[in-house]
Amino acid sequence: MIGDSPDMFGNDPAPEGETDETPSQPTAAELEAAGQGSMFGEPGPEAAALPEPATAPAPPAPPPPAAVQPYRVLARKYRPQTFAQLIGQEPMVQTLANAIRRDRLAHAFLMTGVRGVGKTSTARLIAKALNCIGPDGQGGPTIDPCGQCEPCLAIAEGRHIDVIEMDAASHTGVDDVREIIEAVRYSAVSARYKIYIIDEVHMLSRNAFNALLKTLEEPPAHVKFLFATTEADKLPVTVLSRCQRFDLRRIDTRLLSRHFASICEQEGVQAEDEALAMIAAAAEGSVRDGLSILDQAIAHADMDGEGVVAAAQVRDMLGLADRSVRRKLFAALLAGDGPQLLELVAHQFALGVEPVGLLRAVMDLTHRVTLAQVGGGQAADAASAEEHEAIEGWASALSAGQLHRLWQLLLKGHDELRIAPDPLAAAQMALLRVMYAVDMPDPGQLARKLEELASRPAAAPATGDAGAPASVPAPQALSWEELVERVDQAGQLRIAQIMRDWVRVVALSPGHLRFSLAPGFSGDASADLREGLLKATGERWMLELADEQGAPTLRERADARRETEADALRQSPLVKAAFAAFPAAEFVSEAEARPPMRSQRNWRQ
Ligand SMILES: [Zn+2]
Repeated sequence: MIGDSPDMFGNDPAPEGETDETPSQPTAAELEAAGQGSMFGEPGPEAAALPEPATAPAPPAPPPPAAVQPYRVLARKYRPQTFAQLIGQEPMVQTLANAIRRDRLAHAFLMTGVRGVGKTSTARLIAKALNCIGPDGQGGPTIDPCGQCEPCLAIAEGRHIDVIEMDAASHTGVDDVREIIEAVRYSAVSARYKIYIIDEVHMLSRNAFNALLKTLEEPPAHVKFLFATTEADKLPVTVLSRCQRFDLRRIDTRLLSRHFASICEQEGVQAEDEALAMIAAAAEGSVRDGLSILDQAIAHADMDGEGVVAAAQVRDMLGLADRSVRRKLFAALLAGDGPQLLELVAHQFALGVEPVGLLRAVMDLTHRVTLAQVGGGQAADAASAEEHEAIEGWASALSAGQLHRLWQLLLKGHDELRIAPDPLAAAQMALLRVMYAVDMPDPGQLARKLEELASRPAAAPATGDAGAPASVPAPQALSWEELVERVDQAGQLRIAQIMRDWVRVVALSPGHLRFSLAPGFSGDASADLREGLLKATGERWMLELADEQGAPTLRERADARRETEADALRQSPLVKAAFAAFPAAEFVSEAEARPPMRSQRNWRQ
């Protein structure tokens, strides 16, 4: 569903005279053509259904009603017959037109692209362009083949003797290629160029390629090779380097949708826009795939008696999530409505929608909302007015950061779903996680919030701090902290450090300190302490090493306090949600947690 460009098939591929649908003024050639069957070599039983031919310039028989006509799959019926119908491949058509005009045609062309974008159709169009002689038989190669001359007709019907089609998938061997190489030497029977169309050319064996190479290097002037492949990277460089390469693009979903709409119109089939949008999305850029889905959908519609290709029915057919459901899901995610979310998921699952499809649907919506936010107008391909409106609404209500996070979380859930033993459970968990996380502030706000929380407990334990280590003697004259500070200020930094890190006060009164040392301190601190205290207070202190453990050192207290605050923070719902959303997140101190990006956009709606 991420077609990147428009593509083949005009919007209104009104079947031209050469199609065998509506020969309004049957000429002899047309009638012959009709007799030859339908256009691309498909033996045409419908030829029989055509207006009784030839004898009189009979009044144009109205095309027989569709029901009477033998059914022909849409993909064949609506193959592009001119480059104009191949819209979306403009760069290729332009290059080709220039080459034809300047008579600088490559000897070999390579058409690449995903399946169903029109590689072989393009090859046939090129064959026509090169061999068209115009209605008067005088024309030269043209980007606009007439579609009426004998070569054009013959090529369209796959019966031109000088246009040889080969499927490399079933002719991989060197012998098959050798046949071609032999035949290449003889000039074209009737056409200007002898043209070899080799489909799925990457399937040729290495030997076959080698055999072909010589011919590709110095092909006779009257020979053109048209290769088509889905996997150009499997071709030997030696071959690639001798081809003019055209990359056919995936077809944009919107364009596909419009194309299908025009076909439905020509077929006299009613179809809901949303249904066509779903088909276009499912086709993933391939006209052929899309048209076969459309074929099925039309068949279903006929069976149901309504004759309308309806969204609901296509959805069932494709096992797709309803677009309105995905909007509801999206809304429930944003609103934090867990019960509604679970109910929607369960309901869709019961309807046969794959859990992973649900996630995809929500991802698609997120993508659209994001595009709408960035580019305006992009939501225009919404299937319905309601969807369009909803997307626009979200695009203006949500912040870029929020959408980005939604996408990340959904993508993560999507990945998990693929390995989860129970996709339904995984989908529920993933969506709930998204729901919790989507309600979070952006990093800037989170940081501010953390600051707030951090400053609050800092005040409370500060009072509790003196009380909590209850055994600390209430300082009469100077508290221990103040003493340490004084020692520090007296320039006894090393001693102050010992006092902070290692000394556990058992009893403190002016001029008298009972203390113990925290585990890990080696040696006797008494001399240092005495000196430090003397310098700091001008007094000689009585020091006494006690057996009791005493109060925690200042450092221990600071550590404990930080830990408590962190715990308190971790318990706050906000932070819990953050950890749920980013399990790999780390908890860092408030000082570190203050990112420079303070003010993103406000991201609550
Ligand atoms: Zn022609």
